[in-house]
Amino acid sequence: MISEKMMKLVGANSAIRVMFEEGRRLAAIHGSENVYDFSLGNPNFPAPPEVNAAIMDIITNEESTLVHGYMSNAGYEDVREAVARSLNSRYGTDFGHGNIIMTVGAAGGMNIILKTLLNPGDEVIVIAPYFVDYGNYVDNYNGKLVVVKADPHTFQPDTDAIEKAVTRRTKAIIINSPNNPTGVIYSEGTIRSLAAVLEAKQKEYGNSIYIISDEPYRELAFDGAEVPWLTKFYKNTIVCYSWSKSLSLPGERIGYLVIPSELDDYETVFAAAVIANRVLGFINAPSLIQRAVARCLDAQVNVAAYDANRQLLFNGLTDAGFECVYPSGGFYIWLKSPVADEKEFVADAKNFNILLVPGSSFAWPGYVRLAYCVSPDMIIRSLPAFKKLAGTYRL
Ligand code: PLP
Repeated sequence: MISEKMMKLVGANSAIRVMFEEGRRLAAIHGSENVYDFSLGNPNFPAPPEVNAAIMDIITNEESTLVHGYMSNAGYEDVREAVARSLNSRYGTDFGHGNIIMTVGAAGGMNIILKTLLNPGDEVIVIAPYFVDYGNYVDNYNGKLVVVKADPHTFQPDTDAIEKAVTRRTKAIIINSPNNPTGVIYSEGTIRSLAAVLEAKQKEYGNSIYIISDEPYRELAFDGAEVPWLTKFYKNTIVCYSWSKSLSLPGERIGYLVIPSELDDYETVFAAAVIANRVLGFINAPSLIQRAVARCLDAQVNVAAYDANRQLLFNGLTDAGFECVYPSGGFYIWLKSPVADEKEFVADAKNFNILLVPGSSFAWPGYVRLAYCVSPDMIIRSLPAFKKLAGTYRL
């Protein structure tokens, strides 16, 4: 018999599978061109050509035992050095390879750092609405998830509410900006205020409270919006980065952790995180793609194409009468359900072959999420269906 924890996850997973099956069922009946699936955060845009060129060059010209072999559990030193240099040039920091651990995507990085930091019962604050797997990651190490609601108007973290939620057992707070699911970028003002709250609480309790900044969408920021670099504002910050979205490489499973030298207990945290990478069974981030991304640090997925999708869908939805948060980053639109029970709205949308994710999946009922990392054609084809759906609510 499987464990009780996994039993719960198997139950929860069936909801995602049902949505997937529903997409296939609708496509079989109506044709896939008449089904508008906004449910999945799987990038539709290809990786920039530099990535494949780098892979080809590496397998042709680099030593096979180096390219495919084991290396330090932290990753190739030259790759980590290249990542550190790239960050330094962009953010004016002073990182070296000793601050970087290559990881199996952001998910791998989050698990490494939570394994490194948490004792059973340690509390980890997350800001609702939040990426649902944070709960699972914290639970992996028997931590306690503490959910604090974002400001319901701006969807910025509510730092007064965070201040009230911090206790002696608070070990970390996970933040995610640009945010999945809201598309909001946390402002410098918010970050400064969060840092001030945490500094004061660290002093009060004599503990270290870490910010874990989950940043797979950092590069997807629009209209010249700045995504604040957190280690400049709060020294106990660990950054968890991924190329899944910025280079459209989610299946390659590649990212990194930044553990700054100024962090409390930096040396033991870094050493423990390297060991966590090993004992969690990752051993090291995949070798070939490590070497490839190191050559593509200035490459980017087509951000302008995401921006065009963003405008197309946001304008289409608001023209139809829906109320949405204007997204400044990431590739999601957060739409207010026209009825209180957003699951009912999701079911109604399905009648028009539109697939959406209910806000309850992000601990925020009353809203739904649309992922616009899809083909622009699908967005254009979907807009009449959204108009009809809006009509049923007389919007
Ligand atoms: N964090 C957030 C907020 C995400 O949206 C995702 C993926 O969608 C992840 C982490 C996991 O990313 P990765 O593919 O890098 O593991």
